[in-house]
Amino acid sequence: MSTIRLRNVTKRFGSLVAVNRANLDVEAGEVLCLLGPSGCGKTTTLRMIAGLEDATEGDILVAERRVNHLRPSQRDIAMVFQFYALYPVLTVAENLAYPLHYERISKAKIEERVNRVASLLHLESVLQRTPGQLAEGEKQRAAVGRAIIRDPNCFLFDEPLSRLDIEQRQVMRGQIKELLAGLSKATVIVTHDQLEALTMADRIAVMRDGIIEQVDTPHRIFTEPANLFVAGFIGTPRMNLIEATLTEAGESHLRFELGGQQVRLPVTRPGLGAGSRITLGVRPRACEFVSEPDDGAISGQVDLVEPMGAETLVHLLHGDQDLRVVVDRTTRLTVGEQANLRFEPGSVHLFDEAGRRVEPAP
Ligand code: ATP
Repeated sequence: MSTIRLRNVTKRFGSLVAVNRANLDVEAGEVLCLLGPSGCGKTTTLRMIAGLEDATEGDILVAERRVNHLRPSQRDIAMVFQFYALYPVLTVAENLAYPLHYERISKAKIEERVNRVASLLHLESVLQRTPGQLAEGEKQRAAVGRAIIRDPNCFLFDEPLSRLDIEQRQVMRGQIKELLAGLSKATVIVTHDQLEALTMADRIAVMRDGIIEQVDTPHRIFTEPANLFVAGFIGTPRMNLIEATLTEAGESHLRFELGGQQVRLPVTRPGLGAGSRITLGVRPRACEFVSEPDDGAISGQVDLVEPMGAETLVHLLHGDQDLRVVVDRTTRLTVGEQANLRFEPGSVHLFDEAGRRVEPAP
């Protein structure tokens, strides 16, 4: 069974803890994206699974077998690197066939596998070209083809699309996802691009400073971020994180003081009492400008208006806080004017003083 499991895996480089007690389970047929800012430990995690880096502590299991002591070649893992690593003097067909030369199979069988993979990846017309004669997207597809031709235990991808332009990325995201869906392999993809993770992953592991902060479906990572870091990292424009004090916990509402104003939201959270320091998380598309101030709205001054095509990004200065609001491009607001902002109550996230998500009642 194609699976990848990490059990309390730590990697230290001298005094630096690059990966700190990581736990992960990637099941057969599942695509897991390791996502996080530069230096958070994504590549080190991937390299430990591949066997290119030794784990300092913990267990790495591939296909339910502990592999810590095995060399990369003994782990039977296919890895696609950011740099394609194709042999420049070989044709695409020869590059694809290369990993099969170590397996004792006939020439006819090799040709059949090459043709099947070429057809899956739309490479039929360039099989006789060398990498130097390929477009970037074709090179990347050839590198993916070489990885999947062998039927390995699992797949690892390191920033697979980083060398492609925006349009090619979009096409390749779809193609890789479609391809992996048919292969029933555990797959780990490293990326710092959240769009790549949100579109390709079945689950995302968000990392920061060597720690896995949350492992969840893309939907839940976006709609139920486990803490302030995940909330602020996922989503563009970034979620507004507003420091507030809970002044009243009613039966069906909470009242907050933020930036010298009071706001009443029809939401409840068991366990929260008046006086609690809270961070409210509101996505820029989960609030709207209203013409009349009411007790569910806060007011501020329009500081900047940035047209983004179909939508406009408005910056509202509330106290010393810059709140980002996405509105339809037809909404007219001018810099300097006072405006009232209402949050969509169902879309407001609450985080406690330690930065952890405060869940609503079940
Ligand atoms: P990026 O997206 O920039 O590649 P990353 O999330 O993949 O970042 P890693 O490359 O895993 O991060 O690095 C994690 C930490 O470990 C960083 O602080 C990095 O400088 C450090 N590191 C990685 N490899 C080594 C090494 N061989 N020796 C010493 N430190 C290392």
